Amino acid sequence: MITIKTKERIEIVDITEDVQSLVSKSDVKDGVAIVYTPHTTTAIIINEAERGLMDDITSIIQKIVPQNSYKHDRIDNNADAHLRAVILGNSVVVPVTNGKLDLGTWQRIMFVELDGPRSRRVLVKVVK
Ligand code: ZN
Repeated sequence: MITIKTKERIEIVDITEDVQSLVSKSDVKDGVAIVYTPHTTTAIIINEAERGLMDDITSIIQKIVPQNSYKHDRIDNNADAHLRAVILGNSVVVPVTNGKLDLGTWQRIMFVELDGPRSRRVLVKVVK
């Protein structure tokens, strides 16, 4: 498990090294790593962790799902965060080859906070 303390309402955190560290501790040399967030207002994505692109992603998410009046807001006023999480997805599966995450050259595994700041968990299961 990885724990993350986010600082902003919307924030992208590169967790590739944390995931690789858990893969390295497992016995599995060839299989898959399942990276899963158990929260309803966070997401997991794979893409390039270039600062400008990360800003572009947070910007486009807010354009696609603007702050608005949603039905869920009567409960806890964070419907936009849930809807953004639905669009991005809450897990990724990465091949593990020779004990390493088999990512493309520019691919990174990123945790997306959508209703921070909060303390969050990411579960990693390495399966043969
Ligand atoms: Zn809510």
